[in-house]
Amino acid sequence: MRVLVTGGTGYIGSTAVDILISQGYEISILDDCSMGHADSVPAGVSFIKGSLLNAGDLAQALVGVDAVMHFAGKSLVGESVEKPDLYHQVNVNGSRNLLDQMHMSGVTKLVFSSSAATYGEPKVVPIVETAPTHPTNPYGATKLAIDQMITAESASRGIAAASLRYFNVAGALKSTRGWLAERHNPETHLIPNVLRSTAENPVKIFGSDWPTADGTCIRDYVHVVDLIDAHIKALESLQMGVHEIYNLGSGDGYSVREVVAAASKATGYEIPTIDSPRRAGDPAVLIADINKAKTKLGWRPTRDIETMVADTLASFS
Ligand code: UDP
Repeated sequence: MRVLVTGGTGYIGSTAVDILISQGYEISILDDCSMGHADSVPAGVSFIKGSLLNAGDLAQALVGVDAVMHFAGKSLVGESVEKPDLYHQVNVNGSRNLLDQMHMSGVTKLVFSSSAATYGEPKVVPIVETAPTHPTNPYGATKLAIDQMITAESASRGIAAASLRYFNVAGALKSTRGWLAERHNPETHLIPNVLRSTAENPVKIFGSDWPTADGTCIRDYVHVVDLIDAHIKALESLQMGVHEIYNLGSGDGYSVREVVAAASKATGYEIPTIDSPRRAGDPAVLIADINKAKTKLGWRPTRDIETMVADTLASFS
């Protein structure tokens, strides 16, 4: 099976490319390299440096393709608050173009990178897929709009689709070409920031007065390799005319201070931190209910928070 990986040079997309190849899939990549890095493309893989906003690039990328894994898009919550139009243009319009070009090319299988940000501030945790969706930022709103577009598409044009709602993705994969790591500048994610913390520039803890046991936010972290394992299981279980939504997390929550403690253990020294004001748009607690992915996909995350921290640390070297 040939899979088009949009966003295949980014952190999660490049990990998917590597694992798909190791499992015998043929790969095409479409990426504009606005966030990713062309040097992560494995030798011999068909790579189109192009945009979801360009119909010609999409048509070219879809030649000979059986299924699409759609990772491409803008993904920073803070940036989305500053540039909502850009997020709508790239994420929503780009995905609309992808669906139209898939239809024209006769490609009917789609696995989409959605997000827990579609739920917004949950009333009940763990969060189930049927929970209300009230995104609290433009990023989450674009992911929800795309999920709804895919639901409509599966009904009207009969495509087979899955939206995977990621909680907090962490860790890294060591490929034959080295570690496929997060390379954001500036980095906004907790685990890389904790591991880069120094006495002169300590990691900021965004709020220590949240209604949680230690006062810091709780998130559900999932290793990127487990995450891609779920994508492949989702791909292999697609059904025509059906759009399934699955949460991907570990089903467990870790506070910011617990992540710092895991990082102190991995590094062997006390990570310096500084208590700072809350970050705008942060919900207090986000934990996934992953029973649907467990039952319907036969998926189970196997890598714990210590492994995620250790692999992220190793990926810096
Ligand atoms: N966080 C923090 N300091 C940082 C980065 C993040 O305290 O330098 C907190 C953030 O407020 C949130 C959690 O860590 O509660 C995870 O944030 P991240 O940006 O990694 O992922 P998000 O949950 O926003 O997708």
